[in-house]
Amino acid sequence: MDTRNAFRLLPAPLLSRRRFLLTALAAAIAACRSSATGPATPGPSAHAGLSFPEGLERQREPFENWAGELRFPSVLSCAPRTAEEAEAVVNWAAVNGYAVRARGAMHNWSPLALSPDTSAETRVILLDTIPHLRSLEMLAEPMPCVRAGTGVLMEDLLAFLEDHGHGFTATPAVGAISLGGALAINGHGCAIPARNETALPRQTYGSLSNRILALTAIVWSAERQRYALRRFDRRDADIGVLLTSLGRALITDVTLAVEPNQNLRCVSYIDITADEMFAAPGSGGRDMASFLDSSGRLEVIWYAFTDKPWLKAWYVSPQQPAGSRAVSSPYNYPFSDNLPKPVTDLAQQLVSGHPESAPLFGQTTYAVTAAGLLATASSDIWGPSKNTLLFIKPTTLRVHEFSYAVITRRDRAQQVIHDFVKTYQEKLAAYQASGRYPVNMPVEIRISGLDHAGDIGLAGAQESRLSALSPRPDHPDWDTAIWLAILTIPGTPDMHVFFRDIEQWLIGHYTGAESMARPEWSKGWANSTEAAWVDADIISRGIPAALSAGRPASHGWQASMATLAALDPAGIYQNDFLRRLTRG
Ligand SMILES: Cc1cc2nc3c(=O)[nH]c(=O)nc-3n(C[C@H](O)[C@H](O)[C@H](O)COP(=O)(O)OP(=O)(O)OC[C@H]3O[C@@H](n4cnc5c(N)ncnc54)[C@H](O)[C@@H]3O)c2cc1C
Repeated sequence: MDTRNAFRLLPAPLLSRRRFLLTALAAAIAACRSSATGPATPGPSAHAGLSFPEGLERQREPFENWAGELRFPSVLSCAPRTAEEAEAVVNWAAVNGYAVRARGAMHNWSPLALSPDTSAETRVILLDTIPHLRSLEMLAEPMPCVRAGTGVLMEDLLAFLEDHGHGFTATPAVGAISLGGALAINGHGCAIPARNETALPRQTYGSLSNRILALTAIVWSAERQRYALRRFDRRDADIGVLLTSLGRALITDVTLAVEPNQNLRCVSYIDITADEMFAAPGSGGRDMASFLDSSGRLEVIWYAFTDKPWLKAWYVSPQQPAGSRAVSSPYNYPFSDNLPKPVTDLAQQLVSGHPESAPLFGQTTYAVTAAGLLATASSDIWGPSKNTLLFIKPTTLRVHEFSYAVITRRDRAQQVIHDFVKTYQEKLAAYQASGRYPVNMPVEIRISGLDHAGDIGLAGAQESRLSALSPRPDHPDWDTAIWLAILTIPGTPDMHVFFRDIEQWLIGHYTGAESMARPEWSKGWANSTEAAWVDADIISRGIPAALSAGRPASHGWQASMATLAALDPAGIYQNDFLRRLTRG
C-alpha cells in the first residue's frame, strides 16, 4: 500500500490520526480477505465492502469546471450504482490513501471539488453521482416532502415535484446541475415575500439547504471502525455542518420539505434606467424596493457599459393574467442561452487583444436581449413555477463570476444596492479612464431570504452552520440577502485586479451593525490581483469570522470544522484548497 502521497498532503497533526485509521481499515481489509479463504461465517461480515466494488468500472476521465479555469485531462472516476457501492468506494479510498471527491455536473467555479494543484499523480477518485444516485420518492411524513438521490438533476427533481403538485419558492436558475452539487454550496434563487403575500405551509425564502429534513451521508463510524452510511435527522446536532457541506462529506440522498406548487408570472423590464432602478432610497421611482414590495422575486442582469438593466420580476398568479403567454416548459430565453456567432466572435476579441471592445459588447448583448424578448414573446410569461424559475442552459456563455451575499434588513436592500452600483460605476469608469476594461459581462443582482430553520415547521430543526444565508442570532431583524455578482470572460486583462479592488471595498463597507458580506461559495472570491480563491487573509480570517459572527463559539466556524473533521477523521473528503479553507 503506497500512502506516501496522501501523507505528504496532510497537515502534521492529522498525520498520526490518519495513520491510525488507515491501519485500522487495512487490518479490517486483511481480515476480510482471510475470512474469504477461511470457513464461511453466517450473516454479513463486519468487514465486507472494504475492497473496490466488483463490477464497478474505474476509469480516467477529464474534469473541467464551469468556466474552464480548472481542467484536468485524466482523473480516476467511477459512478457507483448504489449508496452501498459508494460506501465501499470510500472505504477502499481510505485504505489506499485516496481522496474522494463527489462529482455532479462540474458546473462550479470555485475549487471545491478539485484544487488547481491536482496532477496525474494526485491520489483522488471522483465519485460521479449523476448516472445512478437519482432516486425520487414523495413522502407524507413528517410533512409533505421528497426523498431524492443527490445525483438527480435539479430540472428532473422540479419536474417530478410538479407532477405531484409540489414545488419550491426559489431555486438556482440552472437546471442541469445535481441536487448534491446545489446543496453543497447552499444553492439559492431569488425570493422574499411580496408585501401582501401570505406564506404557504413549509415555505422558505432561503436556500435549498434549508429544506433538508434528513440526509444520508457516508461518514466515519467509530463503532464500526470504517466509513459507513449514516442517516442524519434535521434535529441532530451534527447535521448543521452537512446542510451546506462544501463537499467536505459525501451525501447520497436527502429528504426535502416541499410546498404546494404555485403558478408564477415573470415579467421582463428593459426600459428602466439604472439611475432610476438603483437610486438612493426614497427616490419614489421604479426602484428595486418598489419591485420588492410588489413582487419580492427579482433578478437584474445589467450588461456592462449600458444604462438600462434587464429586470425580471416574478408575481404569484394562480390564473393566467391577460397578456401573459403560458409556457409549458422551462428555458424561455433561448437568445441568452445561444448567443449569435457575431456576438461570440466579439467575445473572443475581448480576450485576444481588444479589451476596449467591452462597451460595444455590452451594448450588443443588451440589443440581443431586447430583440430576443420581442421575437420570442418572452417579456411576459406564466406557468407552473419551474417553467420560469429555470432559465439558464449549459449552452450559455461560460464566464467567470465574482459573487458575494450581503446579509441585512429588508428595508436596507435599496441602500445596499445603491452603494454597490455607485462604487462599481465609479471604479469601472476609473479603470476605463486608464484604458483598462476588466469587466465585459453583466452585473447580476438578486435578493433572497435567509435560512431560518423555523421556516419548514419542524420543531427542533438545526440551523445551517455554513450557508451564506445562515441567520445572525445577534441580529434577528436581518432577514434578507442581496446577492451581488459581476461577470467577465475568463482571461480578460485586469479582471482580478478589479475583483480584488471591489471585494476589499465590499467586505469593508458591508460591516458593523447594519450588514455583513459572505462569499457565494460556488463562485469567485478571495481574489489576489492575479487569481481568485487565494487571498490568505480572506480564507484564514475573513471567512471564519463571517461564519462565526454573532453566534456562540459552539456554533462558530472552528466548532463546525471540528465537527466535519470528526465525521471524516482520515481527511479523505479533502483537497489542498479545502484543507486551507476548512482548517478551522
Ligand atoms: C450557468 C450557471 C448558473 C448558476 N446559477 C445558480 C443560481 O441561480 N443559484 C445558485 O445557487 N447557484 C447557481 N450556480 C452555481 C451552481 O449551483 C453550483 O456551482 C453547483 O455546485 C453546481 O452543481 P454541480 O452538480 O455542477 O456540482 P459540481 O460542480 O460537480 O460540484 C460542486 C461541489 O459540490 C460537491 N458535491 C457534489 N455532489 C455532492 C454530494 N452528493 N455530496 C457532497 N458534496 C457534493 C462537489 O464535491 C463539489 O465540491 C450556477 C452555475 C452555473 C454554471
